[in-house]
Amino acid sequence: MSETNVNFHQIRDKITLNTQAFIDGQYCDAADGAKLENLNPATGEIIGTFAHCGIKDVNRAVAAARRAFNQGLWSRSSPEHRKEVLLKLGDLVEENQHELAVLESIDAGKTICDCLDEVGSEAPAFFRWYAELADKSFGKIAPTGDDALALIVKEPVGVAGAILPWNFPFLMAVWKIAPALAAGCSIVVKPAEQTPLSTLKLGELITEAGIPPGVVNIVPGLGKTAGRAIGLHKDVDTVSFTGSTEVGRMFMRYSGDSNLKSVGLEMGGKSPFIVLDDAPITDDLIEHAAMAAFWNGGQNCSANMRQIIAAPLVDDFMDKMLKRVAEFKLGDPLDPETTIGSMITAEHKEKVLGYINHGETEGAKRLVGGDVEGPGHFIAPTVFDNVKNDMRIARDEIFGPVLGVISVKTQEEALAIAADTDYGLHATVFTRDIDRAISMARKLPCGTVSVNGFSEGDIKTPFGGYKQSGSMARDNGTEAMEQYLQTKTIWIATKG
Ligand code: NAD
Repeated sequence: MSETNVNFHQIRDKITLNTQAFIDGQYCDAADGAKLENLNPATGEIIGTFAHCGIKDVNRAVAAARRAFNQGLWSRSSPEHRKEVLLKLGDLVEENQHELAVLESIDAGKTICDCLDEVGSEAPAFFRWYAELADKSFGKIAPTGDDALALIVKEPVGVAGAILPWNFPFLMAVWKIAPALAAGCSIVVKPAEQTPLSTLKLGELITEAGIPPGVVNIVPGLGKTAGRAIGLHKDVDTVSFTGSTEVGRMFMRYSGDSNLKSVGLEMGGKSPFIVLDDAPITDDLIEHAAMAAFWNGGQNCSANMRQIIAAPLVDDFMDKMLKRVAEFKLGDPLDPETTIGSMITAEHKEKVLGYINHGETEGAKRLVGGDVEGPGHFIAPTVFDNVKNDMRIARDEIFGPVLGVISVKTQEEALAIAADTDYGLHATVFTRDIDRAISMARKLPCGTVSVNGFSEGDIKTPFGGYKQSGSMARDNGTEAMEQYLQTKTIWIATKG
């Protein structure tokens, strides 16, 4: 059935929400019975209440994760077994994609088509890819003389914590859970307080797939309580965090103040989209530029919000961009025709509107976009011309649909402006000249450079940031497994 024929409102009306925490294989309330409300950001309606986990719940989840890890039913099971179970989990996610996508859409205000893509296609593929990696990851043998055999082996780190953002709630959960499980770790997952629903539903599928109790635990709650408790827990061996740079910094401190757990950080960005003077302004280029800025309403860590365009091309670029922007359809995220959903909360919308005001006061020229009256927290795709790289709209991560166009005279100037930021997550370069493309890709200080198309890469390619966008850890690819593994040398004396 084509997705446009599915009635997602009907699916929403029939869903029974999982609103409890998932600890040691059971759904349960928070120890003190506390609950948090969650709202549909596109309508302002209350969806329900969910368990508000605190320190006691995190302690219980970590204890269950440790017990499961030490028991070894998962951590020491054969890689073939882990592969089989993760393949099944991928299938279950795919089978439940409509319900998961609707949960994601009502919780986060994301368009149903994006949710279906992330939940129905990308997430199952992730489970399957890491399932296949489980029995294909080899250790090494170091060169020695006949008097020794030196094995270099990888072992699961133990108990992992995963702290998630609200912009891609389910996908980010899967980005952490799939490699952690393939590696043999147990995991305690804290979804963002705005968007726990799809991750909580995963608990049900985890049990059905045959993952033993305690291996995966999900503790919804606030950052300053549940998130902090995971960061400071002395029995959590590693934390993988995706969120803002400000909170990422705290996880480094939590580690220093507790057990020196390893910390993998995936954080914010202010990424450039560069068009050099030999690149024709085609429809394809404009489509990439528009998606780079406005996909997920600009609430995307790798959004390319500084569009650095060769001066002779700016007018053509701007004409075509404004036409493309007019085609976006804001509205009900459950309607498959909608192409931009809402901002995540009223506070976040206010913050983004504040930046739009700033842009105007600092002298940039707003050509289109701005506030859209409620209900729901919508902002129309906003385009600024005459942006200078020292303006706040060019420096801060706005995390909303606010694109700034910066005109440059030379390739060197484009590179200097692109690099002049505290962040280093992503960059796009358009040029027809392969030498210029390679030179720019080599010189841009960021974790992913895409040439002649906006892309974060795919499951096979590591994703993470330079500078204040990330730590050395990477999500995706074989690199993601490294966050959940540690290296052991086994030196065997031999009588050769
Ligand atoms: P956030 O930093 O506010 O929250 C992220 C998580 O940290 C949430 O689960 C939150 O509850 C928790 N948290 C908040 N305060 C905490 C505290 N004091 N102690 C412990 N935990 C705490 O980020 P957000 O607003 O949810 O997400 C948006 C940010 O995420 C943006 O900066 C975006 O760029 C970034 N992001 C990065 C990537 C990436 O892969 N690099 C992907 C998606 C989002």
